Amino acid sequence: MPPPPGELLEKFQKLGYIAADDMREIRNLAAARGIPLLEAAMLGNLLQADARGWILAETLGIPFLEIDPASVPAALADLLPESMARENLIAPVSREGDRLTVASSDPFRHKVFSAVEERTGLSLRIVVSPVRTIGRILDRLYPSPEGVPPMDLAGGGITREEAEEWISLGGGRRVAVEVLLHAAGRGLSGLRMYPVGQDAVIEGRGGETAVLLLSCPLRCREILIDAFRGLAGVPGKGGAAADPVAAAVFHLESASGVTAFRASFVQALSGPEVIVKVLTDQRSGIPLQSVGMNQAQFEISQKVLRKESGLYLISSPGPEGVATTLFAMLREAYRPGRRVVTVEEQHRFRNEGYIQLERRRAEEQFARNWSRLAESLDPDILMIEHVPDPADLLDLLHLAQAGKLVLCGIRRFNFDRTLRTLLTLEVDPFILANVMRLAMHQRLVKLLCIECRRPVPAKPSLRSVAERYRPDLERIMDDAAFFLPSGCPKCQGTGYSGKMALIEFLPFTPGVQNAVVSDAGLEEKLAHLLEEDYYPALQTVHDLLRRGMVTYDEVQPFFR
Ligand SMILES: [Zn+2]
Repeated sequence: MPPPPGELLEKFQKLGYIAADDMREIRNLAAARGIPLLEAAMLGNLLQADARGWILAETLGIPFLEIDPASVPAALADLLPESMARENLIAPVSREGDRLTVASSDPFRHKVFSAVEERTGLSLRIVVSPVRTIGRILDRLYPSPEGVPPMDLAGGGITREEAEEWISLGGGRRVAVEVLLHAAGRGLSGLRMYPVGQDAVIEGRGGETAVLLLSCPLRCREILIDAFRGLAGVPGKGGAAADPVAAAVFHLESASGVTAFRASFVQALSGPEVIVKVLTDQRSGIPLQSVGMNQAQFEISQKVLRKESGLYLISSPGPEGVATTLFAMLREAYRPGRRVVTVEEQHRFRNEGYIQLERRRAEEQFARNWSRLAESLDPDILMIEHVPDPADLLDLLHLAQAGKLVLCGIRRFNFDRTLRTLLTLEVDPFILANVMRLAMHQRLVKLLCIECRRPVPAKPSLRSVAERYRPDLERIMDDAAFFLPSGCPKCQGTGYSGKMALIEFLPFTPGVQNAVVSDAGLEEKLAHLLEEDYYPALQTVHDLLRRGMVTYDEVQPFFR
């Protein structure tokens, strides 16, 4: 049913079919003659051809679509010769089985439609679209010869049938991995998944040209989005930690090497979409830099990771982001021929060269005895994403002392607690000093949405702030305004615009080693360590506070 005439004109204005000036003219004409607006528009010849097509489509009950040309699968170009499409101003826009949907501005071109049916052997559906839209779709489907030719995963990767089957068997992740590696292998700069009609389409981008990588039924969309989320380590929409601007860097390994990707999950009008960028040339360095280290921290960790053995400890208050950092370090330490065993909370990355175990299963198999695991699997590099019991660090220190390179994660509230845990291990301080390479703490802080943050009149209390942090913090209190999250459409009501990793960092340099083996008591040792080669996050924290980008509570743990 066409909407009432008043609304119709409003709709046309929105679609850009009537200019604001023309609308005034229509109103004047209608008022002067006492006739309905739509009639005035007709009489004044103030409706564009596209608006007429729209009315026609509505009246006939044919869908009228403003199609995003980028959403049309490029493979459709193979169905229809360019000359036929251009001469008749029709464009194929989607295909389901043996049904082809064609856009035309004129739904009365029976002869053309039956010629297309005859030629393609497919049954046709018509949608009405503006002429300029059809032109843009044709430009996309039949680009000038210098463009990248359209391709389809059927040529080398996954067919639609295969994809459907894998997805229905719960193999969404495999499909996602294949598509990503395929895109990277073909030198594409990224891909995007979004709905087109009844399909979810994954489209690759190579320069200016878009190419269809895969289309599958819309019902597969959620599974694929979950698969991408899983790969990127971004919690699902319903999850407690759902992020408004969810984006993450992750890595996949294949025979041809490591590829880094950045995935963004956005809520578009037509539902959730995934946009992935292929981060090229990341083999050396960028993963480590991309995990949130500053330049100095990055350079030192790179240097330290060249050593053949030793223990590297990353603590964090929660599980988020640790695996990414550990993998980045692992890649930095890796040399061809080195045997790598990883123990992960869940498989987030696929690394063809590594032996990858899930922690629960590894614990079962080796009775949570890391030495036993090392005896069986004989790794050169052992990475454990999460060591639940700090007492296990003893075992790991001994493995490192025996010549293995061990990277592991533990949960600690802040860096102070991490260092206390290390220094109170029942181990000879000489071993600790000589086997430890690096201790670091990583905390993700939520960044306030600048659009809607609201100032708080009261300054935060410094009650639980450690003495050494007070002077700086008091100065910031005097100068800066403090904010709380609110919520607006831009941040989808959450009050936050994203997250940032803050890293504190202590390489075991000779100065630090001396402090560790000294006869001093624990408190004195801690103080010494922080005077030596400590790379704090404090400067960044201060900066974030001064700029009102975080709540005080969010960074409070840095001051304890
Ligand atoms: Zn906001």
